Amino acid sequence: TPVLSAHGLRKEYGKGEGLVRAVDGVDLDVSAGETVAIMGPSGCGKSTLLHLLGGLDRPSGGEVQLNGRRIDNISEKALARMRRTEVSYVFQSFHLMEELTAVENVELSALLAGRSPRAARRRAEELLKQVGLAGRARFLPSALSGGQRQRVAVARALSNDPLVVLADEPTGNLDSAATLDVLQLFKDLHDSGQTLVIVTHDARIAATADRKFSMRDGVLMDESWPTGGTTG
Ligand code: ADP
Ligand code: ADP
Repeated sequence: TPVLSAHGLRKEYGKGEGLVRAVDGVDLDVSAGETVAIMGPSGCGKSTLLHLLGGLDRPSGGEVQLNGRRIDNISEKALARMRRTEVSYVFQSFHLMEELTAVENVELSALLAGRSPRAARRRAEELLKQVGLAGRARFLPSALSGGQRQRVAVARALSNDPLVVLADEPTGNLDSAATLDVLQLFKDLHDSGQTLVIVTHDARIAATADRKFSMRDGVLMDESWPTGGTTG
């Protein structure tokens, strides 16, 4: 069973003359441990697709399955639970809680995923160490650089041991040094077996993926052609 799959997935906005087919019949299977990159011009439907895959939004048609279970038609309550415990998001603009320290941001997610306070704190400390921020655990986001904030956001994303991490332009707000930092972090995650779906404009990030897709007008195209002289 793929960890994450979409079949005939559609999302439309507006109606009549104003109808926008943001996602227009997407089929996708993501296997355990795979990193999938999605590239494409602004407005082609990448964020909408990621929202549908992560249960942040409901499709107009088609199905999304997480570990073989439908998530497109489950109750709001089940969906909210799924978002806390089974998938994680990394946003372009970090979306950290500004009034909480780095470690508290990670800890809160671990708590919401069902860990005890003590286990949540321990896990948060571990994860900040893993992303190279042990020394910044008590800093507020406002005292961190963009790259450091995104590393906190990645630590937070891992705090619920998600089946899949969905990242939407994770380096879109970062300078080139910080981009390389976050790129390395995603490579490490890939090596550790984390399943990842990354929307990105950055070819270096896409190059770390097992499969690359490009999106145009709501349609996803597999760009991973066999290379070298082999066939079949
Ligand atoms: P991308 O992430 O590739 O830039 P989006 O998924 O954000 O693309 O948008 C795809 C299309 O859907 C665009 O035409 C956008 O204007 C439209 N769209 C996205 N969100 C909404 C919304 N909430 N209401 C109306 N139209 C939307
Ligand atoms: P970015 O600029 O980082 O891509 P946006 O502010 O555009 O982030 O948010 C992307 C989408 O995700 C928006 O539709 C927003 O409603 C949604 N969103 C933002 N933060 C959260 C969150 N913490 N949990 C769930 N959805 C969120």
